[in-house]
Amino acid sequence: MQKLNNYINGRNCDPLDGNWLDNYNPSNGQVYSLVADSNAADVENAYQAAKKAYPEWSNSTLEHRSQILMCLANLIEKNLDRLAAAEATDNGKPLSLAKTVDIPRASANFRFFAHAITQFSSESHESAGLDTINFTLRQPLGVVGCISPWNLPLYLFTWKIAPAIAAGNCVVAKPSEVTPMTAYLLSELLTEAGLPNGVLNIIQGTGPSAGQAIVQHPKIKAISFTGGTKTGEHIARTAAPMFKKLSLELGGKNPNLIFADCDYDAMLTTTVRSSFANQGQICLCGSRIYVEDSLYEKFKVDFLEKVSKLTVGDPFSNDTNLGALVSRPHLEKVQSFIDRAVEDGASLLFGGKKVTVPGLEKGYYLQPTVMEVTDNSCSIQQEEVFGPVVTLMKFSSEGEALELANQSKYGLSATIWTSDLNRTMRLSKQLEAGIVWVNTWLNRDLRTPFGGVKNSGMGREGGLEALRFFTEPKNICIKY
Ligand code: NAD
Repeated sequence: MQKLNNYINGRNCDPLDGNWLDNYNPSNGQVYSLVADSNAADVENAYQAAKKAYPEWSNSTLEHRSQILMCLANLIEKNLDRLAAAEATDNGKPLSLAKTVDIPRASANFRFFAHAITQFSSESHESAGLDTINFTLRQPLGVVGCISPWNLPLYLFTWKIAPAIAAGNCVVAKPSEVTPMTAYLLSELLTEAGLPNGVLNIIQGTGPSAGQAIVQHPKIKAISFTGGTKTGEHIARTAAPMFKKLSLELGGKNPNLIFADCDYDAMLTTTVRSSFANQGQICLCGSRIYVEDSLYEKFKVDFLEKVSKLTVGDPFSNDTNLGALVSRPHLEKVQSFIDRAVEDGASLLFGGKKVTVPGLEKGYYLQPTVMEVTDNSCSIQQEEVFGPVVTLMKFSSEGEALELANQSKYGLSATIWTSDLNRTMRLSKQLEAGIVWVNTWLNRDLRTPFGGVKNSGMGREGGLEALRFFTEPKNICIKY
């Protein structure tokens, strides 16, 4: 069976303890590869390799770094089919999605930061009358840690790594143990792109073992983490007393506010996507759908009709809209949320059942699920499900819509559907979210700041924000 091991100092190596974890194919429930179950000693080796590579890499020219990142972007593009198939197998997502979203975005991440680093600048302040000039020197941090989740494996892994190395840091990175495959495949491309040994080290393994070792390593200066809110809180508790720089991209329970004056057809099509893309396993999915009462009944009928036509099936079939959920424990967790919601009084309008796909009977398939609720404080409205489950609730005024949307411990993104510009501005300013989409969803320009407020995290990724995170500003004051 294929063994997905670590990549340290430019070479693939097995975990020191010789322990391996089963890696499942969610589409058929079979173990299809083994992944290194690394521990603190493996992380230490990765750290040492990164430390050794740092002086040369941090002093390399921006052009040199940019060329390597560009080369990586091209190599990912060249390997699109192979990487997309690996992602679909490892995660259960439709191959079509991996081909059009996940892998192109991984390539775009490297390409974007290859350009961005050449445009990154800092400030200077002339203290007039004092014969003094200050300038801000932005230096890389040293060795940094990047930890990513399973929902968009290569997409989110590269979203952290690319700015970290572009800025001159060396990295110890850990993909999710649930979806290790594309990070493993990336290691081949790193060598091919000519990335110097030790600049990027990939450690496979679980959160409590390998992840924890990265977070608590006394010499790793910063942690860029994307994952669940509980894990983020634990990471903050571990890292904050060491004064590490932290970027935490956490969970969401995003409101989708639909007003009667919206472009109905565009809203309906996009709302199906924002509900169920990637089996609802995108932190930005609009899982709480609030509809103005005059439109509510029509929307309900039309939405359910569209949802009922979605095909759940083999990730490799062209007809598939929803593939498998990522793992058996996750499937069970999502099902338990649905059961609890019904106990709490939610009405199940569609779905809620496991799907048996012929030939793939042991896969983790679930119907897209729509529930109607009247109580905004019930658990299905307040807890992140991170699966193909959305709720519908009506509102009667803009003020009520805003109140319902903000009544959440999360604050990642929000979507507004309206043709009223004044309403757009009023709501955009007051919504407690890091990202507000108006008449669109998941429309991403990589220059924009990305991140959440409240329990959705702290810090921003994307554009120059990411380069700021991965550098330390130093004030140099010269009296002349
Ligand atoms: P998770 O928190 O379980 O795991 C994320 C990563 O952290 C994995 O690599 C895991 O191994 C590691 N980890 C776990 N415990 C750790 C520890 N103690 N120390 C260090 N690392 C540890 O999350 P998940 O289940 O993989 O992903 C789903 C969650 O991610 C959802 O809550 C989703 O909303 C969130 N997410 C957020 C964003 C965003 O940008 N805000 C994007 C994608 C996913």
